[in-house]
Amino acid sequence: MKEILIETLMTKGVRSISPNTRLADVLEIMRDNNYSCTVIAEADETVGIITERDIVRMLAGMENGSNVLAVKVSEVMTSPVITVNEKDSLFEALVISKAQGIRHLPVVNSQGRLTGIVTQSDLVKIYFQVFEKQREIIEKSINERTEALIKANEELKMISMEDPLLGIGNRRAMEVDLQHTHASAIRYKHPYSVILLDLDYFKSYNDHYGHLAGDEALKGVSKVLKANIRGADRLYRYGGEEFLVLLPQISIDGAKIAAAKMIEKVKDANFLHCKSPCQIITISAGACSFSCDDGVTSWKDMIKRADVRLYKAKEGGRNRVVSED
Ligand code: GH3
Ligand code: MG
Ligand code: MG
Repeated sequence: MKEILIETLMTKGVRSISPNTRLADVLEIMRDNNYSCTVIAEADETVGIITERDIVRMLAGMENGSNVLAVKVSEVMTSPVITVNEKDSLFEALVISKAQGIRHLPVVNSQGRLTGIVTQSDLVKIYFQVFEKQREIIEKSINERTEALIKANEELKMISMEDPLLGIGNRRAMEVDLQHTHASAIRYKHPYSVILLDLDYFKSYNDHYGHLAGDEALKGVSKVLKANIRGADRLYRYGGEEFLVLLPQISIDGAKIAAAKMIEKVKDANFLHCKSPCQIITISAGACSFSCDDGVTSWKDMIKRADVRLYKAKEGGRNRVVSED
């Protein structure tokens, strides 16, 4: 499918303001121009953002008599700011805004200069228009297995962000999120962690209880995992009976604790599995963290490292996490 690029749907000609601007002046600019957010830039580099929501929150938390409006915007803006590139696709921008709960995404060019802005609602609107168009093609040609139908089905798969069985992010969305998280970690010198999780003895579960029961068990485990990660963490289906949890800003000690908690909670859920030595469904995990100086060069290396550790967890008896080589 021809990718829809952000540059074709962003609002162009966005005005940015200096970090030294007083908050009172920012409010005036936003009111006069009907802006729902303002981007803050210094020497052409996007350094922060302030949204209507930020302002409402700030005013609500203001103590009587304090003169918050006199402060410089740099003291209250959200920084660093998450941006997308104008050559990124609609899909990439949607994954980033959804994964991180961002409503306003400044758009930059390859030199890092602000060239526009997109809102989450713009992205969702266009996304559904594309979806609807594909669905119409499918409906029209439902009785004939035409080339158009095959193509429309392929394209629907391409723009899907969720796994249809589990309702969590799919592999393609995971790759975009991981790539973006990795790039920000390098840029802002933050750590982040990845945990790969795999159900133990799941083949024998399917063999014994049947594939449909296997699907239900996968859904159950997925729910337990989802309920036991922090709001900032992201759960994806990596493939088959494997999951990946992405933990921004978290280093290895935190990842180890998070993995141990998920393993424990899956055990507590008590999904019977008479073919497993534990008699219940358990999971194994491999965890690793990125820090700027430890030689991991790409997000793909992170997955490889987590996978090696997951393998060790299996070798070591399953139902455990391994977080070192
Ligand atoms: P281990 O403890 O070493 O991970 O053993 P395992 O049996 O879990 O691993 P193996 O890779 O041999 O088997 C994975 C099984 O997961 C086989 C496959 O049929 C099943 N599986 C993968 N995806 C799905 C799915 O969507 N639904 C169901 N029901 N089963 C699935
Ligand atoms: Mg597996
Ligand atoms: Mg398995």
